[in-house]
Amino acid sequence: MTDRNPVLIVGAGPAGLAVAVKLAMVGVPALVFEAEEKFPLDLRAGSFHPPTLEILDQLGVGQEFLSIGIKVPRWQIRGREEGVIVEWDLSLLSDITPYPFRFHCEQFKLTPLLGKRFEALGGKVQFGHRFIDATQDADGVTARFETPGGIETVTGRYLVGADGARSAVRHLMDVPFEGFTWPERFLVIGIKQDLALHGYTYNAYIADPVDWGAIFKMPHKGPPGMWRVLFPTDATLPDEEVLSVPFAEKTLQHFLPRPTPYDVEHTNIYRVHQRVAADFRRGKFLIVGDAAHVNNPLGAFGLNGALHAASNLGDKLAAVCRDEGSEDLLDLYVRQRRAANVEFVQAQSIRNKQVLEEKDPAIRAKNLDELRATEADRERQKAYLIRSSMISSIRHAAAIT
Ligand SMILES: Cc1cc2nc3c(=O)[nH]c(=O)nc-3n(C[C@H](O)[C@H](O)[C@H](O)COP(=O)(O)OP(=O)(O)OC[C@H]3O[C@@H](n4cnc5c(N)ncnc54)[C@H](O)[C@@H]3O)c2cc1C
Repeated sequence: MTDRNPVLIVGAGPAGLAVAVKLAMVGVPALVFEAEEKFPLDLRAGSFHPPTLEILDQLGVGQEFLSIGIKVPRWQIRGREEGVIVEWDLSLLSDITPYPFRFHCEQFKLTPLLGKRFEALGGKVQFGHRFIDATQDADGVTARFETPGGIETVTGRYLVGADGARSAVRHLMDVPFEGFTWPERFLVIGIKQDLALHGYTYNAYIADPVDWGAIFKMPHKGPPGMWRVLFPTDATLPDEEVLSVPFAEKTLQHFLPRPTPYDVEHTNIYRVHQRVAADFRRGKFLIVGDAAHVNNPLGAFGLNGALHAASNLGDKLAAVCRDEGSEDLLDLYVRQRRAANVEFVQAQSIRNKQVLEEKDPAIRAKNLDELRATEADRERQKAYLIRSSMISSIRHAAAIT
C-alpha cells in the first residue's frame, strides 16, 4: 500500500487506528507509526457509549469487541451518605440505538482488534517508530521517525497526529492546548471484591464533598472480572505513598468497611486535564483524539470522543483522498469536532465533576433533587440519557456545516 502516497498516521492508539481502518476500508493507503514496540498495555479508559459501539460496528470490529466485554444496562449516581440517588435505565434508548447500554472493556483489548482489522485490509502498523518532525509543501508531507535502525524519512499526502495528549504533531503545528489541569490526581484501584453484592451497578458515581468517586466493573482476565474504583487524592502526597497497597487499603476501608483486607490487584494515579487545541489543522497536518482534546473521566467521554472524532476525520480524509470532496471537508471536521468537544465534552465533564464534589449543602441538595426529578420523569430521563450517552453531541456535530 505504500506506493500511492499514503496518509501518515502517528500513534497506534484507538484514534489513529480508527482513522487508518476508515481509510483502508475505501482503499486509501495509510501507514500507522507507533513509538512503542507493541500495543501499549496500560490501564486506561474502558467505558463505551452506544454511538461508539455503532462506530466500532462500521469499522468492522463491533461484534468481536462486544463478545469480550460487559454490558451495563443501568448505572447509578450515589451519595456516600444517601446510598442510591438515581439509577438510570438505558433501555429507554432502545428505539434510538441497537446498543442501549454502556459497555465495559479495557482499551488495551480494543487496539489489537483495530490493528488486526487494519492489517486484514492491507495496512501495516510500524512499531518502534517514534515521530520526530515533519515538513509540508504543495505535494504532501515528509516525516522523520526514530527507529531502532536509525532515522527513517517517509513521504505521504497528509500527516495525522493521533499521538495522545503530549502530541509531538500538535507541538509541531504550534497550536496552543487551551484549558487547565485539575490540582488533584486521580487514584484508580483494582479490586477483586464484588461490589454488586453491596448494591452497586457495574458503573456508578459517588457524590461527596470530599470523597467523591467512580466505580467500573471491568472484564479483566475473564469472570468474575475486576472492579475499578476511582478517587481523588491529595496533590501533596508522594506518588509512592498513594500507589502503595496500605494506602489503597485505607482508602477502600473508608469507602466500604469490611472485616478483612481487600484484594488489591493494581493501583494507578494520573493527572487530569481539560484542554482543547486552538485548531486541529495546519495545512496537511491534522490532529485527532487526545492529541486534540483531553478531559476528566467522569462521564467516560475521553476515549469515546476520540473515536467519534477519528470516525469523522477518517470519512472526510477518505473523501478528499478519493477526489470526492475538497479540502474544505477537513475544516468541517475541525468545526464539527471542536464544537462537540468544547460545547459538550468539556462542559459536561466539568459539570459532572462539580455535581459530584459540590461542597455547599444547599447547592448539593438542589443538584441531587434535580437528578431525582429527572429520573422520575420518563421523558426527562430519556433526554438525560441521550445527552450522557453522547448521542446529542454526535447529532449536534453532524448538524454543523
Ligand atoms: C491513565 C489514564 C486513564 C484514563 N482513563 C480514562 C477513563 O476512565 N475514561 C475515559 O473516557 N478516558 C480515559 N482516559 C483517556 C483515554 O484513555 C484517551 O482518551 C484515549 O486513550 C485516547 O486515544 P488516542 O488514540 O487519542 O490516544 P492514546 O491512546 O494516548 O494513543 C496515542 C498513541 O500514540 C503513541 N505515540 C505517542 N507519541 C508518539 C510519537 N512521537 N511517535 C509515535 N507514536 C507515538 C503512543 O504510544 C500511543 O500508542 C485515560 C487516560 C489515561 C492516560
